[in-house]
Amino acid sequence: MAAVIAVLGTGTMGAPMARNLAQAGHEVHVWNRSRDKAEPLADEGIAVHDAAADAVGGAEFVLTMLTDGDAVRSVMTDDGALDAMGDDAVWLQVSTVGVTAEAQLRELAARRGVGYVDAPVSGTKEPAEQGKLVVLASGPEELRPRVEPVFDPIAARVVWLGEAGQGTAMKLVVNTWLLALVEGLAESVALAEALGADPAKLIEVLDGGPLFAPYVKVKGQGMIDSSFPPSFSLALAAKDARLVVEAAREAGLDLPLPRAVAEQMARGVDAGHGDEDMSATVRTARDTQA
Ligand code: NAP
Repeated sequence: MAAVIAVLGTGTMGAPMARNLAQAGHEVHVWNRSRDKAEPLADEGIAVHDAAADAVGGAEFVLTMLTDGDAVRSVMTDDGALDAMGDDAVWLQVSTVGVTAEAQLRELAARRGVGYVDAPVSGTKEPAEQGKLVVLASGPEELRPRVEPVFDPIAARVVWLGEAGQGTAMKLVVNTWLLALVEGLAESVALAEALGADPAKLIEVLDGGPLFAPYVKVKGQGMIDSSFPPSFSLALAAKDARLVVEAAREAGLDLPLPRAVAEQMARGVDAGHGDEDMSATVRTARDTQA
């Protein structure tokens, strides 16, 4: 059944998600801080609003896909989106915000008395465009049948993980692996270059064996070619690395690998590469002097 859905944030991920929801027959309303990024969606029958509160008024579901916890909090509170939500509406929080901010956002929803599902996503720009994300959903059992039709057009799979907060916990776990993989690949490429070994042969050696992962080709070739069109920006990857380090510390763990990745990626951002794909972390690996 068609639903009225507001999407707040039409960046790399939010725009294709809104598009897929509209193509599935839902009535979609969007808002983006920089209106120009939302404007092209109007050609696809999506209503573009000037204010977040206007986009959510009348929506049965409000999906937030913004940079981080601070951005989500300010749009939902300062910009009045939470107050503008209908009493029966459900907030689907799909941005990656980390455990501390997620708990605060959940509390905001509870105080306002609206349904809330913590549902960060795994997958990047291309799976978002193809409607093939993996949704890491968590929240009240009784909301499941209501929200699943909203996830259908954007996801290849929805994995339900328990009480709200568990989606964000799993997202940080998944990203610990992702960040290790990308930084490990970047440093392998940089070492190959430094040793005079052909990094393209690294891909050939790994291909098809137990050490291969599709990212070896997807990100590895971009690293070798120094081509970094953003699917997942280095700035967002650095943010996620910080969120992993913070969550680990709060849980009593000091994990050296995420800490090192966070530092390395922060260097890349400081050097002006934050808007490039996270695979641009190879630049920092290449520049690191012994
Ligand atoms: P993005 O393209 O950089 O878009 C970020 C969005 O947040 C834009 O709409 C931006 O508005 C908005 N925003 C930032 N700060 C704001 C503020 N203070 N107030 C209002 N709006 C603000 O990022 P993305 O790649 O779509 O990622 C969005 C979220 O999904 C992040 O939490 C990210 O970690 C997560 N995620 C990303 C990927 C990926 O591969 N890209 C995959 C999984 C999860 P403007 O356009 O005005 O700047």
